[in-house]
Amino acid sequence: MGFFDALKFSRLKEGLQKTRESLFGKISRLVKGRTKIDDEFLEELEQILIAADVGVPTTLKIVESISARAKRERYMNEAELDAMLRDEIQKMMQDARKTLVVDFTAPLPKTPYVIMIVGVNGVGKTTSIGKMAYNYKNAGKSVLIAAADTFRAAATEQLEIWAERAGVAIVSHGQGKDPGAVVYDSVSSAVAKNTDVVLIDTAGRLHNKTHLMEELSKIKRVIQKKLPDAPHEVLLVLDGSTGQNAISQAKEFTKAVDVTGLILTKLDGTAKGGVVIAISNELNIPVKYIGVGEQIDDLQLFDREKFVEALFE
Ligand code: GDP
Ligand code: MG
Repeated sequence: MGFFDALKFSRLKEGLQKTRESLFGKISRLVKGRTKIDDEFLEELEQILIAADVGVPTTLKIVESISARAKRERYMNEAELDAMLRDEIQKMMQDARKTLVVDFTAPLPKTPYVIMIVGVNGVGKTTSIGKMAYNYKNAGKSVLIAAADTFRAAATEQLEIWAERAGVAIVSHGQGKDPGAVVYDSVSSAVAKNTDVVLIDTAGRLHNKTHLMEELSKIKRVIQKKLPDAPHEVLLVLDGSTGQNAISQAKEFTKAVDVTGLILTKLDGTAKGGVVIAISNELNIPVKYIGVGEQIDDLQLFDREKFVEALFE
């Protein structure tokens, strides 16, 4: 690991401290001194995983695969048991690196590369956009933010602050204005100026749910007037500290929009980080980024191997 990777890993570990203490601390105690897997072990493991918001379907899958492996490799030492657990948990999550434009420094397949950010109020959409803008900018890419959440008072002001912090351009028409027009102007400007990345903030709540889903579809159609193959990514933001609630929100959104990836925020300060495993497994959508704090550099590319490592250490 290079210096910056080590730094990022230590922030990840720091951010996941509560989850590690609650979930994986218990797993370590369970594994300690064991040389075989029996029913009592499997039952305890099941309880720990469910208590840590890994969710029933995903927990049962993990326990079943461990039980199947235990039948083949009945006796093992503590280290082997620990490695097997890590391996089975890691396998429950999708490998984001295989399916997506990998990281901020990677060349973009298209420019302008349009990313739409969706999710309910308060989950961390605006903050995540600020963090992404900062990362893309640092990677030498030009960025434009579209302030298309015109519903909530102060939403555009908040986004303007993030744009300034990140040092990127923003198109904002102000509260109450037509989000379609904001998006149209943003994409037109990005095409004219050859901007690399367009990040579109959207409303998290309108008068009702149908209205919100219609607005998201409309925004998509407006983008496509200018760029028929866009948006290139639709990222759904979920608040990791809400545990199983995040899964039901995700189910709602994925019915209405084609979500290509997830951003799981607020993993710092929660003991429910196990929900990442559940979400990645149950929704079959890769977790692309995780938020581990409120600062501009607190967004990390999700790496399932590092995640599990940080949880077990
Ligand atoms: P939006 O309504 O979806 O746009 O959510 P905001 O971006 O306005 O964020 C709502 C609150 O969550 C703010 O107070 C943010 O500082 C906070 N927040 C966002 N992401 C994170 C994170 O990864 N960790 C922590 N601790 N707080 C976060
Ligand atoms: Mg917002």
